[in-house]
Amino acid sequence: MNVVLLGAPGAGKGTQAKVAAEQLGLVHLATGDLFRDNLKRATPLGQQAKHYMDKGLLVPDEITVNMTRQRMEELAGARGFIFDGFPRTLEQAKALDSLMSDLGQRIDRVVYIKVSPEALMERLSMRWICRQCQAPYHEKSNPPKVAGKCDHCGGELYQRDDDRPETVRKRLDVYFAQTAPLIEYYQKQGVLREVDGEAPIEAVTRGLLAALE
Ligand code: AMP
Repeated sequence: MNVVLLGAPGAGKGTQAKVAAEQLGLVHLATGDLFRDNLKRATPLGQQAKHYMDKGLLVPDEITVNMTRQRMEELAGARGFIFDGFPRTLEQAKALDSLMSDLGQRIDRVVYIKVSPEALMERLSMRWICRQCQAPYHEKSNPPKVAGKCDHCGGELYQRDDDRPETVRKRLDVYFAQTAPLIEYYQKQGVLREVDGEAPIEAVTRGLLAALE
């Protein structure tokens, strides 16, 4: 089974993808995590991506699709993928359809995690992420058990540079202009399901798993 999680930055895609991937035995493929990993290792790809990420802009489609294709090839043999943060443009969605069809597979389900713009702003500015395992936390609604430490792996928690308010606003504008049209794209394919992303985390997980049954 191959799944796309669709939703704005801060909708909870990362949190939910992690749980769903574990429960369903799928590989969690998050393009934002791949870019950040390249940034950390100062690879040429990371240097290219940094320019866009710092401004809250999307990395060009060609670079993003090539990176995703390469990662999928490295993970050949996986039972299926849960894509988080990809696709983010119509071009990427079409490229993913063709990558899938080359593998004799398809995107079986797209789950749109719906959250209002006001809630997204609030969430992103209070988000903390684990440096080691990327698990996300929220200062108020999902704090770690020990301040500054990841519950899962004990890693250090940090605030992403692009979670600063000016960049957050830009990222949300980019989402509504370039990514939101994918809702209609997948609706037309008949694979879209919607869950209320403002419900408690466990309820969103239940909704997501039900949508994937
Ligand atoms: P995320 O962690 O998904 O919020 O991604 C962080 C940043 O990485 C984004 O603001 C973009 O600059 C870049 N990025 C991640 N995924 C994509 C994508 N599918 N297409 C273009 N840029 C991306």
